[in-house]
Amino acid sequence: MSEIEREAMEYDVVIVGAGPAGLSAAIRLKQLDADLDVVVLEKGSEVGAHILSGAVLDPCGLDALIPDWKEKGAPLNTPVKEDNFYMLGAAGEVRIPNFPMPPLMNNHGNYIVSMGNVCRWMAEQAEELGVEIFPGMACSELVYGDNGEVKGVVAGVFGLEADGSYGPGTEPGMELHGKYVFLSEGVRGSLAKEVIAKYNLQDGKEPQKFGVGMKEIWEIDPAKHNEGEVTHTMGWPLGSNAGGGSFVYHLENNQVYVGFVVHLNYKNPHLFPYMEFQRFKHHPKVAALLEGGKRVAYGARAISEGGYQSMPKMVAPGVALLGCSVGMVNVPRIKGNHNAMLSGKAAAEAAFDAIKADRSGDELTDYEVEVRTGAIGQDLKKVRNVKPLWSKWGLVASLMLGGMDMWTNTFGFSLLGTLKHGKNDAESTEDASKHKPIDYPKPDGKLSFDRLTNVSFSMTNHEESQPCHLRLADDSLPVSVNLPKFAEPAQRYCPAGVYEVVQEEGSDPRFIVNFQNCVHCKTCDIKDPSQNITWVTPQGGDGPNYPNM
Ligand SMILES: Cc1cc2nc3c(=O)[nH]c(=O)nc-3n(C[C@H](O)[C@H](O)[C@H](O)COP(=O)(O)OP(=O)(O)OC[C@H]3O[C@@H](n4cnc5c(N)ncnc54)[C@H](O)[C@@H]3O)c2cc1C
Repeated sequence: MSEIEREAMEYDVVIVGAGPAGLSAAIRLKQLDADLDVVVLEKGSEVGAHILSGAVLDPCGLDALIPDWKEKGAPLNTPVKEDNFYMLGAAGEVRIPNFPMPPLMNNHGNYIVSMGNVCRWMAEQAEELGVEIFPGMACSELVYGDNGEVKGVVAGVFGLEADGSYGPGTEPGMELHGKYVFLSEGVRGSLAKEVIAKYNLQDGKEPQKFGVGMKEIWEIDPAKHNEGEVTHTMGWPLGSNAGGGSFVYHLENNQVYVGFVVHLNYKNPHLFPYMEFQRFKHHPKVAALLEGGKRVAYGARAISEGGYQSMPKMVAPGVALLGCSVGMVNVPRIKGNHNAMLSGKAAAEAAFDAIKADRSGDELTDYEVEVRTGAIGQDLKKVRNVKPLWSKWGLVASLMLGGMDMWTNTFGFSLLGTLKHGKNDAESTEDASKHKPIDYPKPDGKLSFDRLTNVSFSMTNHEESQPCHLRLADDSLPVSVNLPKFAEPAQRYCPAGVYEVVQEEGSDPRFIVNFQNCVHCKTCDIKDPSQNITWVTPQGGDGPNYPNM
């Protein structure tokens, strides 16, 4: 690419990704010094277009960043007023009382929000402070300086030829240089992945772990709607096949977020996370809520689950990783937005101090220290053993042991120390021959839907003439290795139906990549057992267009 001539623009801080982490960093930088030049680049067609986490938000991040967020009209309109937890069986459920839960699991004081709308509002706050925000601008490459430091990004490459080469209609984009570059791309960021590998940032840490989260927005019968109600479930339909569970949040306007997370360390390659989600909605308790309603949106995104012991080193020369590009989700609480915001604030403060001291292009060590020892580290440390316990001991034992460990951690100690995760999620997949295929009921079109119909409710769009942004290191491997060994699980783990194995009579099976359907969840990049698929960013504006997820 060195022969491509591009214009370059100089900034103090270049921020990749307008999620809660990136926007918080931008706001804090301008709060500290209105004269700093700060730019935020976002691949979604607008801020919020790629934000999925219809969420219970712990406002502690916002409190720290914009203490008068209420007066400023932040869209936190639905306080949590009821918090339920159920263990599901196929035909019934058992309510787990709230009193044995450690206090950190309490949702009192939290809000049910559309994070897409929260990000849209944060972007307005940032722009009022003078931050430049460019949506529809994907950052596709890192730019390195003479000393090997990250000095910027390439953004805004449009109109590549289908083979990835430059043609007459290609816009080469521009370089945006900064004294520091913040990568706040969310979970499994493509540039963050490059930085983690280049500077060996994961060395000495546990592997990052993930889940795939799928979500639908439903409009339900007002008689069944209970604004402010939060419900989490575990158990059926996953049983012992995989870890995970559901969330059902009643927000405003008779709408409900119905979501399902499957931990990606499952062993059985026949497991079909999307169909587990669809099946879940047929549980009598859930069906009773949704019957008569309609699904108005669908989306999916990976969620980081490794927590405290999996956070890579988060700074390298010229660059800092923020939010879920590091992996800051508190797994038992299913919450990461508050930590994403706090990390943005901390990175901004470290960069401000460095720039004031005439530094640039070096490591923002103070940021890393603040994350590990400050509010984020304290939040994640208390729950660090929940995920490894779940992976090792299954649901019931881990609920008891994990609950006990969270309690003792509340008082500052753990009898278990810090448990390891062991394998990464790709390595967890076992041979198909060791497991039975799972028979999933057909979607009924009322409560459950086939994947492609649901994908149309994510308003996903990719220009067909564009190069495929799901790169196979070896084109033949899906059929030569993954199919015989793992029954090619890409056909099932992708929640958007991107991957198919097609076999016509008399010909060899073919692996098809329908990249146009991709909702940018990154599950393939994580779970492919051969680690043969790399997700790179397509051109800006492509991908889902979530309304108020
Ligand atoms: C199903 C699900 C449910 C969840 N529920 C909750 C919840 O209830 N409460 C909670 O607190 N947390 C929840 N989380 C976790 C929460 O979503 C994350 O912790 C949070 O989104 C992290 O914020 P972030 O800013 O790091 O990344 P993100 O929110 O993912 O934002 C990253 C942004 O960067 C953009 N981007 C990425 N790469 C590029 C690139 N190369 N160029 C330009 N732009 C780029 C993306 O389009 C996106 O807009 C949930 C997650 C999932 C998947």
